[in-house]
Amino acid sequence: MSSAVDLSLAELRDALKAKKVSSREATDAYLARIDKAGALNAYVTVTAEKARAMADASDAKLAKGEGGPLEGAPLGIKDLFCTEGVQSTAGSRMLKGFLPPYESTVTSQLWRDGAVMLGKLNMDEFAMGSSNETSYFGNVVNPWRRTDGGNADLTPGGSSGGSSAATAARLCAAATGTDTGGSIRQPASVTGTVGVKPTYGRCSRWGIVAFASSLDQAGPIARDVRDCAIMLKSMAGHDPKDSTSIDRPVPDYEAAVGASVKGLKIGVPREYRLDGMPSEIEELWAKGVDWLRDAGCEILDISLPLTKYALPVYYIVAPAEASSNLARYDGVRYGHRASEFKDIKSLYENTRAEGFGDEVKRRILIGTYVLSAGYYDAYYLRAQKVRKRIFDEFVDAFTKVDLILTPSTPSAAFGLGEKSDDPVQMYLNDVFTVTGNLAGLPGGSVPAGLDGQGLPLGLQLLARPFDEETLFKGMAAIEKAAGPQGRPTDWWTS
Ligand code: GLN
Repeated sequence: MSSAVDLSLAELRDALKAKKVSSREATDAYLARIDKAGALNAYVTVTAEKARAMADASDAKLAKGEGGPLEGAPLGIKDLFCTEGVQSTAGSRMLKGFLPPYESTVTSQLWRDGAVMLGKLNMDEFAMGSSNETSYFGNVVNPWRRTDGGNADLTPGGSSGGSSAATAARLCAAATGTDTGGSIRQPASVTGTVGVKPTYGRCSRWGIVAFASSLDQAGPIARDVRDCAIMLKSMAGHDPKDSTSIDRPVPDYEAAVGASVKGLKIGVPREYRLDGMPSEIEELWAKGVDWLRDAGCEILDISLPLTKYALPVYYIVAPAEASSNLARYDGVRYGHRASEFKDIKSLYENTRAEGFGDEVKRRILIGTYVLSAGYYDAYYLRAQKVRKRIFDEFVDAFTKVDLILTPSTPSAAFGLGEKSDDPVQMYLNDVFTVTGNLAGLPGGSVPAGLDGQGLPLGLQLLARPFDEETLFKGMAAIEKAAGPQGRPTDWWTS
């Protein structure tokens, strides 16, 4: 049998049940790879001892023919999820050394279902970014490289860049991510992995460090569509501890993978065709249309004219909520505290000046500005009104179509440092993904091809609220038509 790390999550699950491999073997194989992957900087914390203990406990259950749906599967966890007694940093100096006294609901459900925690994955600071370059713990490197021989280090996308890089480089069987404006779908797109942002309210936000509470959603990054379906089944569900979590049964998403898409109506929104978009992305999108048509879907051109306002609306609403959520980091109760201060005011000032990085400070400044008395109506209130109309526009579109097809990102993986000095350039990466967050829709990115430099490109599907099953059907149809996309080499092995 091939090495345990080469198995998809579904294959590993079946191999574990059939006792062809033990969880301990799989866990040790992953830990050995993680040990050699320092160059990728995907993990902030590796919980090797805990992982081995969890694996042994899983093996004991599996030996008795017991165990949950993820029994023995080694996973990576984005460092935004609080894990009891295990450092949870949100990629920030502010939370360096923070040991949560509780476990997030999503991760507790993964452990309930038998998964093994390999460690905590690097990310943009407080999930703010599109390239994983804002992390206090240093950037993550994409395991994919251009075929031009230049060996330039590329970003793995953000903010779940540790999750995407670790999944692509086989440093975990699958990973958790969070998506506020695209942070699951974009990193998945640029690393040749699959990422799903569920409907707002599908997964509990309890115990996830808050960025923008009306947009944040947890979801999986995995190697294929089936693996994402398996992960989401365990991650989703109602949680009374999160008042925005919705009490609806969690369907068997895996059953939707491979189901026929015949008769589904696919909308292609003309406003997602950007000036200056690389022709390769345009061609990929057209291919996606052909694949779905060949699979029996009906293709409809649709119009979503408010799309052009989505980025400005997002970059008002998200910083506004962030500035409020991040007010709690004051050096008093937990997290970083400045060592020098003379009174309570300078304790706050020095703590926050030292604890937060530049991008987080920029968001707090923008957020407090748009919420301030003189500008609230002009910016925040107006943005909320446009947000509602963007939602209405989608509701209307979904009376005509079942799924909406767009590219996931406006470009393939870019070089580290290429956009980090220009925040507006960086924000433009979110152009195809923020609409889904503003409207609370489920969306996913699936690898659909390689660009001229051999780098992965993804296509995005958006679905009606709580219609993740149709989303998975459509994603699986694209995956099947696109065929295997290969994998990056292990150039990083030390
Ligand atoms: N890139 C977006 C931002 O920086 C989205 C981040 C996210 O989804 N967490 O806000």
